[in-house]
Amino acid sequence: MRIDNMLALVKDTARDVPGVYRMTSADGEVIYVGKSKQLRTRLLSYFRARFPRDKGARILREAATLEWEALPNEFAALLRELRLIKQLRPRYNVSMKRDARYHAFVRVSKGAAPRFHVVRGAGTDETGLYYGPFRGALQLEEALRELNDVLGLRDCRLDQPMYYADQPDLLPLPTRTPGCIRHEIGKCLGPCIAAVREEEYLARFRAAREFLEGAHESPLLPLRAQMEASSDALDFERAAVMRDKIRRLEALREQFGRIRFALESLSFVYTVPGSSEEEGRSYIVRRGRVRDERPVPRTAAERRALDAAVHDILAPVERAPAVVPGHEVDEILLVAAWFRKHPQELERTHSLDVPTKKSRTA
Ligand code: SF4
Repeated sequence: MRIDNMLALVKDTARDVPGVYRMTSADGEVIYVGKSKQLRTRLLSYFRARFPRDKGARILREAATLEWEALPNEFAALLRELRLIKQLRPRYNVSMKRDARYHAFVRVSKGAAPRFHVVRGAGTDETGLYYGPFRGALQLEEALRELNDVLGLRDCRLDQPMYYADQPDLLPLPTRTPGCIRHEIGKCLGPCIAAVREEEYLARFRAAREFLEGAHESPLLPLRAQMEASSDALDFERAAVMRDKIRRLEALREQFGRIRFALESLSFVYTVPGSSEEEGRSYIVRRGRVRDERPVPRTAAERRALDAAVHDILAPVERAPAVVPGHEVDEILLVAAWFRKHPQELERTHSLDVPTKKSRTA
């Protein structure tokens, strides 16, 4: 009977417009959130599920209520779905972060001695800082290892206890040999055995970040010097090893530069025109995130208000690193995937000064 009521409601009131829907269990838990370009068609499909084990049939069996919300366009529906899933975490939305799982990210760890580590997707760490998305986790790991080695940064377990040389002596110091070959061969400063002051370790870590963010190339300098010295000493084998290390680090820095550029190029106003049924919307996108959205202006006052918001959001010049907070990762991937899948939509974007992407490239 409950299912019959839901079906009758859909048949009587749902329209074939873009939107999101949610199913809620009898005890008030939102168990599923979905989106569709054609809400009515999508919702009716749940009632046609042929096999009891179908996901749609299972969700429907548990659902006590079905609600939906019409939205002005498909992009709005995608965005709303993502934000609802992040907020409500419905248990049937196992596909959440599916896109992110296909990408590698470099996470900046927290804690006393920060380090970089490669992860797939942003996981559930909404407060972490990430560089990415990248393809090729293995290559990324190898190049980061190189960078860690050059700067003496740690790459051990995240929960490895750290003891700086200038740390107040509250705890008994561990043995000077951590049992870790990296310190013994001079590739880690040894923040775990009080072999380095905190300030020095953090300065090296900062240098690594600045290198990845394109600010300088100091980690390359000792490698270049070693390559030249080896070459002068006719040790061409060692010179070749150094050359390969340099190339890996240069490639890593280029990868970070590309990510930075890609993120920055996802900064514009995206206008989706209205139809006879729906009003148009203007989305202000900065570095892949929708920072503001409002109806397409119809009056001079609305136009001025939009221009002011665009200016406030897009004009500030910041030396923006490629790093993104964990809670932004999914939305950046969504926006990037939308324009990759619908490249013609780029013609509806314009940046602060330039009318359209199309005219910019013409
Ligand atoms: S020396 Fe200590 S801090 Fe460095 S990588 Fe090894 S265990 Fe980690």
